[in-house]
Amino acid sequence: MSERRLPSWVARSAQGAPPASARSVQPRPAQPGAVPMPSGLGLDSAAVRARMVQRLAASGLKSAAVLEAMGGVERHRFVDSALVNQAYEDTSLPIGLGQTISKPSVVARMIELLLDCDAARDGRGRVLEIGTGCGYQAAVLARVTREVYSIERLRGLHEKARNNLRPWRLANVHLIFGDGMLGYAGGAPYAGIISAAGGENMPDAWCEQLAVGGRLIAPMVVAPGRQALLVIDKSSYGFTQSVLEAVNFVPLKSGIA
Ligand code: SAH
Repeated sequence: MSERRLPSWVARSAQGAPPASARSVQPRPAQPGAVPMPSGLGLDSAAVRARMVQRLAASGLKSAAVLEAMGGVERHRFVDSALVNQAYEDTSLPIGLGQTISKPSVVARMIELLLDCDAARDGRGRVLEIGTGCGYQAAVLARVTREVYSIERLRGLHEKARNNLRPWRLANVHLIFGDGMLGYAGGAPYAGIISAAGGENMPDAWCEQLAVGGRLIAPMVVAPGRQALLVIDKSSYGFTQSVLEAVNFVPLKSGIA
């Protein structure tokens, strides 16, 4: 294993908050004048994120909106403090209860695909995310689309996401505790549906709750032990499906826990 050097902003966070002038994109304070989260990550965290965005662009990600959103969301605030030094590497990370946050390149790729359809283009539509996890992808989606409904079946993670997102007070993100295999009728029809968990079959509810002109992106099992990214487009004539690259997501499970 190669030795990892801590980014300088991690080292600095251990010594306390940097001067206010060094802070970059901060969560909105809960009350005027209040600083809602322990800080310590400032301009250097923005620089590390900017390098991540450069790598995403170099690897072929084209959407300016997605690149900007990836640069704007502080991924290090969504992972355990012990993993902060890996937050901007292109790697999936554990978020508790046996689940993982997807690697940035996969999050960005899926959102870029999601937005490339008639209903979701230009961020006009409502989007449903299956598998809120720690809330990171919901925060990215909130920057590129009008409204985000995100559903999680594990109460512990639903609450973790709520806590992680609270400081930003994102009025366009709705977190739901429930079984996403049933979709979420409350926000339907959706311009886009994006699943962060891989199932054996595409739940009917997802196709039903997709708007005409909308797009569904989900990892699905395509052969025993093999998942691929599926893209389903809904038109007034019906559905078309494309099978894209191999992926490796946590399993889609039914019921709540
Ligand atoms: N988008 C998340 C990634 C979470 S991993 C993030 O940014 O952190 C996938 C999540 O899907 C897990 O938290 C898992 O509990 C959840 N999941 C699996 N099956 C589900 C279902 N039927 N309904 C809702 N969430 C589900």
